[in-house]
Amino acid sequence: MAEYDVVIIGAGPGGYVAAIRAAQLGFTVACVEKEPTLGGTCVRVGCIPSKALLESSERYLEAREHLAAHGVKVEGVSLDLAAMQQRKDAVVKSNTDGVAYLLKKNKIERVVGTGRLVKAGEVAVEGEGEPRTLTAKHVVLATGSRVAPLKGVELDGDRVGSSTEALAWSEVPKHLVVVGAGVIGLELGSVWRRLGADVTVLEYLDRILPGMDEEIAKEARKLFTKQGMTLRTGVAVTGATVKGKKVTVHVDGGDDVVADRVLVATGRLPNTEGLGLEDAGVQVDARGRVVVDERFETNVPGVYAIGDLIHGPMLAHKAEEDGVALAELLATGHGHVDYGLVPNVVYTDPEIASVGRTEEELKAQGVPYRKGVFAFQANGRARAMGRTEGKVKVLAHEATDRVLGVHVIGARAGDLIAEAVAAMAFHASSEDLARVVHAHPTLSEVLKEAALAVDGRALHS
Ligand code: FAD
Ligand code: NAD
Repeated sequence: MAEYDVVIIGAGPGGYVAAIRAAQLGFTVACVEKEPTLGGTCVRVGCIPSKALLESSERYLEAREHLAAHGVKVEGVSLDLAAMQQRKDAVVKSNTDGVAYLLKKNKIERVVGTGRLVKAGEVAVEGEGEPRTLTAKHVVLATGSRVAPLKGVELDGDRVGSSTEALAWSEVPKHLVVVGAGVIGLELGSVWRRLGADVTVLEYLDRILPGMDEEIAKEARKLFTKQGMTLRTGVAVTGATVKGKKVTVHVDGGDDVVADRVLVATGRLPNTEGLGLEDAGVQVDARGRVVVDERFETNVPGVYAIGDLIHGPMLAHKAEEDGVALAELLATGHGHVDYGLVPNVVYTDPEIASVGRTEEELKAQGVPYRKGVFAFQANGRARAMGRTEGKVKVLAHEATDRVLGVHVIGARAGDLIAEAVAAMAFHASSEDLARVVHAHPTLSEVLKEAALAVDGRALHS
């Protein structure tokens, strides 16, 4: 007899949400986590601390540079970085404590230690106390991801760091070099730029934000440049030499750059090391991701995997939905996540958000489409807020008018995209989006106007 119905390795958004949903469905559940606090990369060193610092740094800049335009005089604005970092730590703690509370409330056994798959139905745990073996009907691997190493660049945890270090620096670097113009590079680059650093972003490709709609990424590049960020594309970083407190970053295709600190943000890799996959015979793909079928099951029956460890976007909400779907599949035989409808949000200022296919993807796939674009500039609420930069782009099928993609750059893009996701989940047409009544004056009217623009009948342009 197995001790538990479900044993989950990893308590990130994938693992802890799977645990909660499985417990709600009546399973006995244990969740193994090697870190002393719960919530995974997202809560401890990812989504939550980065958003706390983005929020604080935005307010600092607002007080310094933007409040005057509203007739609010603020004098003697100065930065207390230690207080900002303490606030961030408190925000993280309230979230990790929140996850611990939820596990307890749902009677999920929390096992502290490093888990390893022995074989189907068996997980070995090594932690502080005696090693333990847990037995379960179903084993879920949810060990997430880690920073991808960059050849020639050693992360020394001081001058050259990953996002984890860049979330905790106790002083503002004079010159920060960010390697990689992806999500992490631009979000954390923005934080330190706002706090006063000169920021140079070095990107291998000839564009920023690969994977995002190109028109939107071009607009983003323009706006970040205006904010004082230096964005150099088409350059490969090949090495970094630390000498005292300075780092020389070696670049193929351009001049070397000298910096005070370097943030390496060139992607993340699935956490499979030491997980026992080879011994248990679990298959991984060429990119090191655990291979699963549409039921999240690996090639070893009874062993499942979710979140950053498998294919699909490396996002917290995707990991959570994997967790819910898997628990429901185990309980009812039904559960599914549509990876084509996972929204993607970059929490820079302005925010950038998208769902569905990009214009480039539609072209490459030969899908006939119509496009509607509307600028925040022509929206009353955006003008009242003083937030007129950016645009919304709606892509719809030429024949059926079904919405195929929505791309937003502008204030509150991350919130605005939710409407587009809901519309697409219900197979809405651009006509449907355009005919829904949107409150006035709100930023959501920009989405409505972009939907109208698909048919060439935007009202305010
Ligand atoms: P993880 O969150 O990585 O959790 C895996 C857990 O497993 C960890 O707690 C780890 O300690 C544990 N573990 C690993 N191996 C073992 C083992 N052998 N035994 C026991 N425990 C183990 N995504 C968003 O959607 N929005 C954002 O704003 C966002 N911001 C981010 C900012 C940064 C700086 C970073 C790095 C990531 C960000 N992400 C964001 C991505 C997001 O954090 C991940 O997609 C998400 O955490 C994946 O969830 P997961 O449960 O699959 O894995
Ligand atoms: P990324 O894949 O988004 O970006 C990495 C960038 O580095 C790419 O543009 C790539 O071309 C570039 N690069 C690679 N090698 C290089 C080299 N040698 N020199 C210069 N540039 C190089 O990865 P990331 O920013 O590290 O983020 C990792 C993951 O975390 C992402 O997949 C993302 O989904 C997730 N994340 C999400 C959010 C969010 O949802 N807001 C925030 C942070 C992280």
